[in-house]
Amino acid sequence: MRLRYPLSEETQDMSIGLPILRPDVAAVAGTPPPAPDKARRPGRLVDSHGRTIRDMRLSVTDRCNYRCVYCMDPDFRYMPKRELLSLDEYLTIARVGASLGIRKLRITGGEPTLYAFLDELIAGVGSMGFDDIAMTTNGSLLDGMPLEQWRRDGLDRLTLSLDSLRPQRVAEITRTSATPQTVIAAIRLGKAAGFDPIKVNAVVMRDFNDDELADFADFARQYAIDLRLIEFMPLDSSKAWTRESVVTADEMLEAIGRRHELVPVESRDPASTSLNFRFADGAPGRIGIIASVSRPFCGACSRLRVTADGKVRPCLFSHEEWDLRALLRDGAADDDIRGFLADSMWTKQAGHGIGSAQFTAPVRTMSAIGG
Ligand code: SAM
Ligand code: SF4
Repeated sequence: MRLRYPLSEETQDMSIGLPILRPDVAAVAGTPPPAPDKARRPGRLVDSHGRTIRDMRLSVTDRCNYRCVYCMDPDFRYMPKRELLSLDEYLTIARVGASLGIRKLRITGGEPTLYAFLDELIAGVGSMGFDDIAMTTNGSLLDGMPLEQWRRDGLDRLTLSLDSLRPQRVAEITRTSATPQTVIAAIRLGKAAGFDPIKVNAVVMRDFNDDELADFADFARQYAIDLRLIEFMPLDSSKAWTRESVVTADEMLEAIGRRHELVPVESRDPASTSLNFRFADGAPGRIGIIASVSRPFCGACSRLRVTADGKVRPCLFSHEEWDLRALLRDGAADDDIRGFLADSMWTKQAGHGIGSAQFTAPVRTMSAIGG
């Protein structure tokens, strides 16, 4: 995989200290075709493949202070700020989503801790009656943030990201001076604030960090965390993804199995995206494997994604996205937004098709969609 990191000569947005660039993403998104009447159910969002949508991933920024090699190129172009939604707009989407039966909300990005109104967002969504509110963050900016207040305001879970236990590798992967200690400190802060267990995501790439799988398992035991090993997906802005770069769930299990015996754990959530395991010797910590490529879970998918610029993406790999921002900025009533979401989700594709010869990766990267 290519590693290069000169930040481009573009101007700096001093408010967040990051380059403001023209967007790489296709900004063209339209209105979904009208769905049949059976798609419009009170309090329920359904698609045309019989799935019920209960899980919203809300991206609150496309900005990030890292440039992970599997996600964002150094010269990645951000969307202009005016294109991103306002706090009120994010809250409206979450509230209307809740009225349509969305039970789980994940706040993500980009790096959500860069979002200026994160505290207000958490407090707002925390009072909307979701069963579960989580946030995914690289953890680098948590020191000094009001974690206990977030917990009291209704944030239930924290997921952190750490792709290597070796300092030099973390620096190479994130293209920053971050080290494993950055995330270890975030785990401690999170636990002290009452987030327990904490999940830690690691994207596993061949010949990059796949020699650390058993060490990752040791790390899960030592810090009593839920470790999520994620198969590398074709959502990187450098388009370096290849089928060969994917370390499959089977390979991960074999590598860990050489050091630790794992016992499968049934998930209570039928829409769970991970294969879950505990340690046979009763040690703390768990392993979850997100095998989106080798064992897709599309048939049970209950997700809807909303990008930071207000585009509804029925699937992570959608080529179509629907422009909810235009509707919001037209002063739409809640009923109109409900109708728009119902129409949008009716277009959700049956599966991502990564295994098929016709597969093409979406234009948006993971950071611009919301992981
Ligand atoms: N910046 C935050 C972070 O890294 O935790 C939240 C956003 S990030 C896009 C969400 C998750 O997506 C991270 O855990 C990251 O590892 C994962 N991710 C990003 N690009 C990916 C890719 N190409 N394949 C698999 N996972 C990816
Ligand atoms: Fe930033 Fe997260 Fe993407 Fe890394 S994975 S570049 S931390 S958005």
